[in-house]
Amino acid sequence: MTVRDLGAMPMAVDVVVCGAGVAGLATACAIGRLGLRVLLLDKQRERRPIAKGEVLQPGSLPILHDWNVLQGLQERDAVRLNRLVIREADGTGLLDFDYGMLADGRAWMLAHDYQVILDALTDCLADTVQWRRGVLVEGTIMDSAGRVAGVRVVEAGRRYEVRAPLVVGADGMSSRLRKAAGITVNPIEYHHKLMSFDISGIAEQDDEVAAYVTDRGLHLRYPLPGGRVRLYAEVSPDRLRVLGRAGLAEWIEGLLAEVPALRPLGDPLRASLDRRQILSVRRFTSPRLQRPGLALVGEAVHAVHPMAAQGMNSAIADANALAGCLAAAGSVDPESVDGALRSYHDERIGLLHQIATMSHNATRMMTGTSRGGRMLGRRMLRGTAGNPRLRFLVTYNLSGLGMRPLGTTDRLYQVGLLPDRHAHQVPVVDWPAGLPSPMTPSVSQ
Ligand SMILES: Cc1cc2nc3c(=O)[nH]c(=O)nc-3n(C[C@H](O)[C@H](O)[C@H](O)COP(=O)(O)OP(=O)(O)OC[C@H]3O[C@@H](n4cnc5c(N)ncnc54)[C@H](O)[C@@H]3O)c2cc1C
Repeated sequence: MTVRDLGAMPMAVDVVVCGAGVAGLATACAIGRLGLRVLLLDKQRERRPIAKGEVLQPGSLPILHDWNVLQGLQERDAVRLNRLVIREADGTGLLDFDYGMLADGRAWMLAHDYQVILDALTDCLADTVQWRRGVLVEGTIMDSAGRVAGVRVVEAGRRYEVRAPLVVGADGMSSRLRKAAGITVNPIEYHHKLMSFDISGIAEQDDEVAAYVTDRGLHLRYPLPGGRVRLYAEVSPDRLRVLGRAGLAEWIEGLLAEVPALRPLGDPLRASLDRRQILSVRRFTSPRLQRPGLALVGEAVHAVHPMAAQGMNSAIADANALAGCLAAAGSVDPESVDGALRSYHDERIGLLHQIATMSHNATRMMTGTSRGGRMLGRRMLRGTAGNPRLRFLVTYNLSGLGMRPLGTTDRLYQVGLLPDRHAHQVPVVDWPAGLPSPMTPSVSQ
């Protein structure tokens, strides 16, 4: 329960959280609120601005409200978005996931830059949370019974150990802690990459995330505060390899020609060329989220395509669930902690698999440039659009308010191979038990 050889920081800790991305910060926020002493470590001295994680789904908002983070996001002018709309290249709507149909109209998304979301979480850390940057976690310490009892770290060339009854691995996709725990995952890389553009100077914003399904693949458009837009464009690795600076300019002209809906972004898009980023996209779900003494959260244990905007939201839900299980255990003695970790795994694992399936199915419908794939994708989009029950279920599943997975028969309805006699029977879904109560309208603006 102590930090050894630390000199400057002689504190006892209950929990050491490794990684201060959204998963680590959310965990430190949630566990700090329980009054536990948390040490949060990150190898980075400063945050790097990277395009990822802009959209918070409705299911995250009551949790963030409970932690006072939502208010911070609103003060930072987070953009409220009411729908995810799948559109043709010319902007014609194919399928509208209108969040207004959920939870008595109290469901919406919020969008901001990942770094700002991290800032808002940081502001709400309890006094019992200590954060040290520039500390690389090298691996775990085990006790004689094989339980994780702490971590080995290196800070400014000095190696030391941090012992705690609970270690949380929030160290992202290539998690050292997951590997140290002997948990194997099989990441599958999507065949395409995403090129991201940070576009500014947009006078008018829509209240929607727009996903354009085009012959060039998927293009995602997220409104951001300050008249900015984040555009993600699907691009094949082969195409990328041959794109120099001049080729890229030409590629953008091709994009504007083939996707007329993006033409209003033309000049600011051209001006944003030097700020582009290229992102690989992988998916996996770990078979285990814990072992004695160690919990894993966020992308250390699950990664999905950004298309359905689930990754950051799942990380927040992990943190909330883990803190709930620890609170229920009522103690940080190793036995209580390990019981809480088993409950955490049981509570999350099924849902994470469902989220992975949903995200992958959505991605398959909208990415890819083969003729057959595009035709099937369109057919499924139209089948969903014409079926209010399916449209509601998909919107609900995306929202993070709960999960009602589609079955095999639903897939047949989507492709139009079976008529759905219940297409107009839209389910009534209550506010999920276990989530803080719905937000009041006063926090919605
Ligand atoms: C293009 C793109 C768009 C996305 N859009 C969305 C979206 O709109 N909505 C959504 O919900 N999700 C989205 N996601 C997913 C989301 O970004 C991730 O799920 C989320 O960032 C994962 O957070 P994390 O904290 O688990 O990992 P990370 O953000 O990777 O954080 C891991 C942290 O651990 C630190 N670290 C790593 N190793 C060590 C070590 N050994 N010692 C100490 N520190 C360490 C790193 O420095 C880092 O700070 C998107 C992803 C991408 C790529």
